[in-house]
Amino acid sequence: MLTKRGYGLSRRDFIRLAGGTVAALGLSGTLTPKLARAIEKAAAGRPKVVWLHFASDTGCTESFIKSDHPSAGELVLDILSVDYHESIMAAAGKQADEVLAKAVAGKDYICVVEGGIPTVPGHGMIGGREMLAIAKEVCGNAKAVVAIGSCAVDGGVPAAKPNPSRILGVGEALGMKVVNLPCCPVNPEWLIGTVVYVLTMGKLPELDKKGRPLMFYGRKIHDNCPRRTHFDGGRFVEQFGSKEEAQGYCLYKMGCKGPEAWSECPKTRWNSKESWCIEIGSPCLGCSENRWTDNFAPFYGKLANVSLPFGDVTADKIGVGIAIATGAAIVGHAVVKASRGKSADDSKK
Ligand code: SF4
Ligand code: SF4
Repeated sequence: MLTKRGYGLSRRDFIRLAGGTVAALGLSGTLTPKLARAIEKAAAGRPKVVWLHFASDTGCTESFIKSDHPSAGELVLDILSVDYHESIMAAAGKQADEVLAKAVAGKDYICVVEGGIPTVPGHGMIGGREMLAIAKEVCGNAKAVVAIGSCAVDGGVPAAKPNPSRILGVGEALGMKVVNLPCCPVNPEWLIGTVVYVLTMGKLPELDKKGRPLMFYGRKIHDNCPRRTHFDGGRFVEQFGSKEEAQGYCLYKMGCKGPEAWSECPKTRWNSKESWCIEIGSPCLGCSENRWTDNFAPFYGKLANVSLPFGDVTADKIGVGIAIATGAAIVGHAVVKASRGKSADDSKK
């Protein structure tokens, strides 16, 4: 079983974990001792987690395994008691069914769901049972339900048109309130951060209208993008392989959905903070938003309109408008400077 490891974390480990988590969440370093105590206390109780797996490509498990604040190993083996996870547990077949039945019997577990739920009878089965029936039973008895990745949030890629299996996200399929952590895959730090927040604060983090924690989905990618000065200056990449691309210009015209995508990708970053989509040269596909596969296709086509605080106009116009305004200011400045110079020259005469 995943819960039997034979050794635990030392006090120093808890401080290191708390320090890493505080840094990852962008909190003050003075909270480290408090967080260390809270994680230590939570670990003593080993909160139970049941991780369900429905229609998806397992990308969120892959992403979670790469977490490092704390690492998935520390979280799974030393802090939580992950009693059921089809992809990483040793049990299979009938034995796995028994493990699940035992895990949910106490009703004191958090349920993490990966993948969308097919709602057409016979379209999504595990061990002869409908995924929908399993979800109803396991989620219905959980203390809290966390839907990770776009598939669990709203069906994601498997629910793209025509969606013959009528795949839905967990909240919609079960008609219940869940914490939604979208993106394709979920950023492991947001999952860890949510779990750590619940463990330390004893409540759910503040959520937006779509059930997303504001601490990870509270700002638009566009507002934090390092290429934003190029957008404001009207400098766009028009073709991959161009010199504008090499210069790191704005990717809006290459299909970037950053102006309509809410998430902290630029700050949290990916793969141990190595990089993120736009930094490696890919336009943001907007995978933090509902129905992104249908709503944002074609992925390399630009958004028709971009809502900004000062009006609903196309980004081209804004960029060019600002560029013209900037240009006019520069020209104006040059004219003033020239005329001052002229006056100065005149006065010398
Ligand atoms: S459109 Fe995309 S690349 Fe351009 S500034 Fe906004 S988020 Fe960054
Ligand atoms: S940058 Fe955009 S496409 Fe990339 S993970 Fe974030 S929301 Fe998804």
